[in-house]
Amino acid sequence: MEKPFAITLDIESSLANKTGTWRVERPVYVDRMPPCNDACPAGENIQQWLYHAEEGAYRAAWETLVADNPMPAIMGRVCYHPCETACNRAQLDESVGINAVERFLGDHAIAQGWDLPPPAPATGRRVLVVGAGPAGLSVAYQLRRLGHAVTIREKASKPGGMMRFGIPKYRLPRDVVDAEIERLLALGIDLELGSAVSDVGAVMRADGYDASFLAVGAEISKRTYLPAGDSARVVDAVSLLRSMEGEQAPLLGRRVAVYGGGDTAMDAARTARRLGATDAVVVYRRTRDRMPAHDIEVEEALEEGVAMKWLSTVKSVGNDRLVIEKMQLDEAGFPQPTGELEELAADSLVLALGQESDLSLVDGSDGIVVADGVVQVGSDMMTGCPGIFAGGDMVPAERTVTTAIGHGKRAARNIDAWLRGGSYESGPRHELANFSGLNTWYYADAPKTVQPHLELARRVSTFDEVTGGLDESTALFEARRCLSCGNCFSCDNCFGVCPDNAVIKLEPGRNYAFDYDYCKGCGICAAECPCGAIVMVPERT
Ligand SMILES: Cc1cc2nc3c(=O)[nH]c(=O)nc-3n(C[C@H](O)[C@H](O)[C@H](O)COP(=O)(O)OP(=O)(O)OC[C@H]3O[C@@H](n4cnc5c(N)ncnc54)[C@H](O)[C@@H]3O)c2cc1C
Ligand code: SF4
Ligand code: SF4
Ligand code: SF4
Repeated sequence: MEKPFAITLDIESSLANKTGTWRVERPVYVDRMPPCNDACPAGENIQQWLYHAEEGAYRAAWETLVADNPMPAIMGRVCYHPCETACNRAQLDESVGINAVERFLGDHAIAQGWDLPPPAPATGRRVLVVGAGPAGLSVAYQLRRLGHAVTIREKASKPGGMMRFGIPKYRLPRDVVDAEIERLLALGIDLELGSAVSDVGAVMRADGYDASFLAVGAEISKRTYLPAGDSARVVDAVSLLRSMEGEQAPLLGRRVAVYGGGDTAMDAARTARRLGATDAVVVYRRTRDRMPAHDIEVEEALEEGVAMKWLSTVKSVGNDRLVIEKMQLDEAGFPQPTGELEELAADSLVLALGQESDLSLVDGSDGIVVADGVVQVGSDMMTGCPGIFAGGDMVPAERTVTTAIGHGKRAARNIDAWLRGGSYESGPRHELANFSGLNTWYYADAPKTVQPHLELARRVSTFDEVTGGLDESTALFEARRCLSCGNCFSCDNCFGVCPDNAVIKLEPGRNYAFDYDYCKGCGICAAECPCGAIVMVPERT
């Protein structure tokens, strides 16, 4: 992408203009919070790693990225990228493909065999983490970096939580999961597999841990009572998807109905298609616009031939058919029964009605409050029991991998402060870099790059990955689409347009300063800065 030349005046022409302080306003360089960063649940410094990536400095980009999120190759595949929804570039043409560049960097790091930066010197403090899903792995990584000794106890035979036992392989290949988890554990994190914790307080006392972080997820499928014939085949979606990691693929039959409207329902239906179901039908009681599943999941399911039966509930399950009742939405948008029944041929029914947490491990811990099936935590992620923190799906929040990773980071900072007898103070919050603060004329049109997709025939017959990655040239192009909202990207415009040569370039790097002895406060630099990184403030009197 060509960038327009900045107009640079003859520097010699105004060197004698030392004017003193008769300004009413002075320009100041600022850093603002780009909306992408603000929207990322893991708090990634996206603008900064894109800046490194667009220079081809992939290692620096990756190291900036993993400071907040140690699993970018996973995130670059499964994150629903709220950063892109918030991205200012969406108002210009299309949002920057942040998620695709993140994946490129994650895959590149795996291919290059890069290691994570080494931990700080040992602090002598020991922390127990329960659960090796994204929340537990994230907190363990961040605590280890700070020099604490961390033990993760995981009841399953492999780490990863729902990244391994929920999200299907066609969206998240397991070699990627293994590579990013192994690299993180190599920092010296102790992982005990097949090691369920049934009473966290008892374990902490017995083994002398200084603090703990609970991340047991929400892996119990919600059930509903359905009259069912003796040989009706009814399974829950979590068990179905978990069994895909076993030796034996589950037998579902040719016609499979999936009951529910969330992402798990889409994954179950798409998995059924790949297991040989010719008819995979999602039965959902509301309409598409009210479905909790993300649009991309619904679209990909439809592409793969999954049928949707809206405004329908399952009344009973027979051996080879279901009885469905038609629903209608009332004025408040709630589905109400109509009494109208129909039959749907189905060899099996998969229940995907949401998940809940098994919180029995906190039964004996005083002060921990459970409400609506989740553990209550403060903004520091600590439960009501001092020293016991929690995050991920078992606390009230959006249930996504990225949120879990963000919880792990936030909890680690607070656990570290707590272990040191203090409290964590985040730095001052930068003002948001809104679209209105950008000079969009500066940026050339550049349509978003498109990630390749596996052809449909292979999608429905194999578990090969559906969405492909960007190659180096397209990843670079995509990174260069970033407008660097609210943060200087060294375009030299201010340096070039200042009529009084009051802008000084600081070498090396991308920093500039104002020489206020020369600046008249005309404000041209602020007006011409493409990304809103200069503000005019009233002159001090
Ligand atoms: C089918 C499916 C698809 C999904 N797809 C996406 C997606 O595409 N993108 C996205 O962002 N999110 C997705 N999610 C949601 C996401 O997977 C979860 O929000 C996330 O994994 C939660 O992380 P967690 O660490 O809290 O819990 P989990 O990932 O559930 O991990 C909890 C871990 O704790 C272990 N554990 C439980 N109890 C104990 C105990 N007592 N002792 C020791 N260990 C214990 C479990 O074995 C497990 O390993 C999906 C979820 C499902 C079910
Ligand atoms: S983790 Fe998700 S929200 Fe954060 S930068 Fe990556 S894609 Fe965006
Ligand atoms: S243009 Fe760049 S800095 Fe601005 S919101 Fe998008 S990704 Fe973030
Ligand atoms: S005009 Fe260019 S060099 Fe000057 S602050 Fe803005 S982005 Fe940085």
